[in-house]
Amino acid sequence: MASTSHSNPPGDSEDAPSGFGTRAVHAGQQPDPATGAVMTPIYQTSTYAQEAPGEHKGHEYSRVSNPTRSALEGNLAALEKADHGIAFSSGVAGIDAIMKSLRPGDHVVATDDLYGGTHRLLRQVFEPLNIETTFVDMGDPKAVEASFTDDTALLWVETPTNPLMRIVDIEALSERAHAHGITVAVDNTFATPYLQQPLLHGADLVLHSATKYLGGHSDLILGAVCTDSDEWAERLRFQVKSTGASPGPMDCFLTLRGTKTLHLRMEQHCANARRLAQMLNARSEVGRVRYPGLPSHPGHSLAQKQMSDYGGMISFELADDDMEKALAILDATDVFTLAESLGGVESLIEHPASMTHASIPAEERRKIGLTDSLIRLSVGVESFDDLRDDLDHALSQV
Ligand code: PLP
Repeated sequence: MASTSHSNPPGDSEDAPSGFGTRAVHAGQQPDPATGAVMTPIYQTSTYAQEAPGEHKGHEYSRVSNPTRSALEGNLAALEKADHGIAFSSGVAGIDAIMKSLRPGDHVVATDDLYGGTHRLLRQVFEPLNIETTFVDMGDPKAVEASFTDDTALLWVETPTNPLMRIVDIEALSERAHAHGITVAVDNTFATPYLQQPLLHGADLVLHSATKYLGGHSDLILGAVCTDSDEWAERLRFQVKSTGASPGPMDCFLTLRGTKTLHLRMEQHCANARRLAQMLNARSEVGRVRYPGLPSHPGHSLAQKQMSDYGGMISFELADDDMEKALAILDATDVFTLAESLGGVESLIEHPASMTHASIPAEERRKIGLTDSLIRLSVGVESFDDLRDDLDHALSQV
């Protein structure tokens, strides 16, 4: 597994139309039929001329569809080896559309360690609408199965989880969920399709915050769902049309530009993160380093099985779990910018307890092991030595 340099991730078999890099650059796109422009234009239009009522060239109104968006959707579907890609105005809008496809009384089982905004949406928006969620540690597939009820309609998986970097067995959980007729959705934002393709492990829906690695440059907000299910694709397109969760053409264009270099960027994110995790692991100020590429990580062998490399995200605690010291480290970095979000070319550092995961009640955070000294790094593609020196300097402040 986990070759550090590969042209094709797992799942790229001989019957695939082309390798990952080729799909990343070309899928979904062709020279513009009107002008020959090689790059898909930003079709900045809300409406389209019709020759007669209902007679048009495939697009009627841009809330429903737009040529730049269609190119992106084809590209994302190809990266996940899916039949359908549906783009949304944000990752959260994609999760919201999946949830709105459920019915009052339905039950959801979700990873207990997950993006704070997903937690907030499930708890504070959908529970009042009578769609309840049980949050469980997905480390034990049997325990997950035990949380299924007759009403469970959706299993929501994140892997690696955010921010604790746990690895969840997509295949084992999909088998168990499908035996109960439950749809499996995987948030693949951290891994990206370059490192992990959940549909190939049995998942039904893959969610992306394309704001992160797919866009890759921290300059857009966009979400996507990929699926092989015609039924789900139709439901989700209906949601986009009906609720207006459509991304604008400029953000679609920027995401398309981002995916063209996804494979190149991910190689560098992974290489930098692997070396930084080893460096942090050797520091006395640092407690547990949560990086699935470390052999000491409890999910290491599972990650070897379902991912082709370990990604660019690292979390770590301080040896004495001192929050003040954690905040001092955040203050002392220079190359790592203190900011929410992840997946851009630039390195970011943040404090989940007070930033990305502040919307999770403190007691629930403590229960899952999200401590107040936990620091999360989104390792960028800068020169490794500068990243190492920056963290080295910041750690020496405490
Ligand atoms: N999923 C994960 C794992 C995330 O980290 C985020 C955002 O940080 C989202 C989903 C939501 O995406 P967006 O901010 O594009 O709505």
